[in-house]
Amino acid sequence: MQSGIILQAPGRLEQTQLPEVASPGPGQAIVRVLAIGICGTDYSAYLGKMPFIEYPRVLGHELAVEIEELGPQCPSSLQVGAVCSVEPYLNCGQCRTCLSGRSNCCESLQVLGVHCDGGMCQRLCLPAAKLHPAPASLLQQPLGLESVALVETLAIGCHAVERAQLKANESVLIIGAGPIGLTVLEFARLAGANLTVLEKQPHRREFVARHYPQVQLCQSLPPDHRFDVVFDATGHCGSMAASLQRAHFGGRVVWVGITAEAVPLDDALLHRRELSLHASRNARPADFPRILGLMNEGRLQVQPWISERCALRNLPEILPQWLEPQRAVVKAVALVD
Ligand SMILES: [Zn+2]
Ligand SMILES: [Zn+2]
Repeated sequence: MQSGIILQAPGRLEQTQLPEVASPGPGQAIVRVLAIGICGTDYSAYLGKMPFIEYPRVLGHELAVEIEELGPQCPSSLQVGAVCSVEPYLNCGQCRTCLSGRSNCCESLQVLGVHCDGGMCQRLCLPAAKLHPAPASLLQQPLGLESVALVETLAIGCHAVERAQLKANESVLIIGAGPIGLTVLEFARLAGANLTVLEKQPHRREFVARHYPQVQLCQSLPPDHRFDVVFDATGHCGSMAASLQRAHFGGRVVWVGITAEAVPLDDALLHRRELSLHASRNARPADFPRILGLMNEGRLQVQPWISERCALRNLPEILPQWLEPQRAVVKAVALVD
């Protein structure tokens, strides 16, 4: 057996014993979990606000792991001892979406820690193709290991910016400066866009003002203020519906956040301005090595996001504290010892 943390039911996060992993089959690897980023999805699951999660569930999809054992037929780029970021999107590889190269939205996608048990444990058996090795020099940097655990969350912003086909000097509005909005901000910044962030919560505006002085920051906008590209990272139905009004004629809108509600769509507006509306789901495999490379070069600034850390075994007591609004947690990381 191995120890882990399980969410038995909303509000009931507990230490538990989990089955030990079996020997790796062809193309599989046994990994030791080192660090886990805690995400909005995890908090929602804890609060019972995730519509498609079943309990009990072992959470954890933002993972830094070390390879312990490789089965036969694994990619030669992987070695025992390598620290990797995990691409937690377990796709079938056979549906027409997978075959068209869009494994991020496989028709029967299983996201680790959401649709199946995730990484809040000591060891996992994973498809080796989902492991992306971190450069050794990244791990020597301050918060290097924690950064590897944040690669998946950054990949969300990376993919959203790619969906928009963002070009340098375009005007961009990011609605919502929570962790996902910040990942969009990082990649829109790298693309050379002119950035405006709309955020209602003062502590989030303060964070953006402190760490992104080049960004225009506002809590509301005049009705006629429009942008080439609008990203909605709120997951809020009303905000998503209104986001279309913020796009120029011919503009693009990307919904990064997700809501279970039906979003009313102003078709007259969509047509008159011939807007392009994109959903952005998860991220593509190539985003993971790209992000590891950018981190290693110091071109992504995620260290200031990591305001909280704890040992995984203490998570049941500590996670509820991270939900307190006055803590203003951007990203928290649990470390497995
Ligand atoms: Zn996440
Ligand atoms: Zn598929």
